[in-house]
Amino acid sequence: MIRNSAAAMADALSKKEITSVELTQLHLDRIDAVDSQVHAFLHVDREGALSQAAAVDAKRAAGEKLSPLAGVPLALKDVMTQKGIPTTAGSKILEGWRPPYDSTVVTNLKANGIVILGKTNMDEFAMGSSTENSAYGTTHNPWDLDRIPGGSGGGSAASLAAFQAPLAIGTDTGGSIRQPAAVTGTVGVKPTYGGVSRYGLIAFSSSLDQAGPCARTVLDAALLHEAIAGYDKKDSTSINAPVPAVVAAAKKLDVKGLKIGVVKELSGDGYQAGVKSRFDEALQELVSAGAEIVEVSCPNFEYALAAYYLIAPSEASSNLARFDSMRYGIRVGDDGSAGAEEVMRMTREVGFGKEVKRRIILGTYALSSGYYDAYYGSAQKVRTLIVQDFAKAFAHADVLVSPTCPTTAFKIGEKSNDPLAMYLNDIATIPVNMAGIGGMSLPVGLSPDDGLPVGFQIMSAAMKDDLMYQVGGTLEAALLSKWGAPILTNAPELAAK
Ligand code: GLN
Repeated sequence: MIRNSAAAMADALSKKEITSVELTQLHLDRIDAVDSQVHAFLHVDREGALSQAAAVDAKRAAGEKLSPLAGVPLALKDVMTQKGIPTTAGSKILEGWRPPYDSTVVTNLKANGIVILGKTNMDEFAMGSSTENSAYGTTHNPWDLDRIPGGSGGGSAASLAAFQAPLAIGTDTGGSIRQPAAVTGTVGVKPTYGGVSRYGLIAFSSSLDQAGPCARTVLDAALLHEAIAGYDKKDSTSINAPVPAVVAAAKKLDVKGLKIGVVKELSGDGYQAGVKSRFDEALQELVSAGAEIVEVSCPNFEYALAAYYLIAPSEASSNLARFDSMRYGIRVGDDGSAGAEEVMRMTREVGFGKEVKRRIILGTYALSSGYYDAYYGSAQKVRTLIVQDFAKAFAHADVLVSPTCPTTAFKIGEKSNDPLAMYLNDIATIPVNMAGIGGMSLPVGLSPDDGLPVGFQIMSAAMKDDLMYQVGGTLEAALLSKWGAPILTNAPELAAK
């Protein structure tokens, strides 16, 4: 049962072939068996999950009408607050913090009867592409335990690939849902900015951050998308409009007449040969399914990474000022001899890791008077040019596509001492965040050169999220009929330990 899709689990629950308590227990058992190897979880809420499951079972027994995913378990990225449950954002500075409130995403999950198993590992404050920046140890990729599961949401993606959870929540500021999905052979979606509330999402870069669904199939992602999305007056950037009909779109399985734009700048040099060949084959599947392929050019994407590494650290340097040792988490050096400022300094020195400090310094510099226009101001102008590139491209195509990332999963430690090499992982995912549009990654097979999963990115214009689900669902169905089985059946079996 734990290897099924969330939709199949929901179906079994509604037919009363299994209870939510049983299904939740199966996943808790799987976590107990394999998480010492994968380390996807920072906290497992066994009692809470079982009691949520029991509540759903009781409602079902009483004949109440339940939402489609009621009773299905989920893993929550540790950057979302859940009342009373330890929440660290992967940082030592928040060690021991139990939020006094639920994020809107969690409120929505609970309202839908989705059972929260626990909190997943991540790069500290979502800064990274490998989960190696977590203060609580790295997560291992279930395909090869010596490799990274992507980041920052490596724990969420790994939990899906290791069958510890059928659904997970991620957040994506520059690729943190899509890149982990790509390297673990799972599906991840960054909705349109403002589509899912940021209330209770511990802020990294507020103008880029967006929570979204992680799953093993496109339909499962769509079901979770509809459960968490929608207007929220607690988030001033939330979009007050109906949620795009992504579930219906994922079920269409038809792309006849749709124009698919291949972004020239996102598939050239620097992409692993096996990534490119799987990408090209996937395009052919879409052609066979009746889509038309066009090439589009987005010349300013060349500057997206540089602009992102000014904008995101600038916003982070401001957002992270709230970790001042007074209100949340740890406090260091408060023995009566030091003043408040000194206690703050010592706490931040001990509480923040290297990458977080690097970004705070970068961002503070970029925002400093005298440099503001040259750095932050220029980056914002580049952002506008990227928005315009997308607008022009969407005039020629319904969705845009590219490989999700340049390579398959790399070895743990391979890039941890080279920040620039790490940043380059996000070359294809960052433009989507800069423009606030939607982006999805889905698996399109294993790279012939190393046998590891390859991700295919689909981008859709703002509030046209349904289109990427329509194309993703169709491509997934075509590949499934070709392969005969889901890609994750090729992942090595993790022996219980
Ligand atoms: N890897 C990128 C970064 O380090 C994106 C992270 C994210 O999307 N949260 O900033």
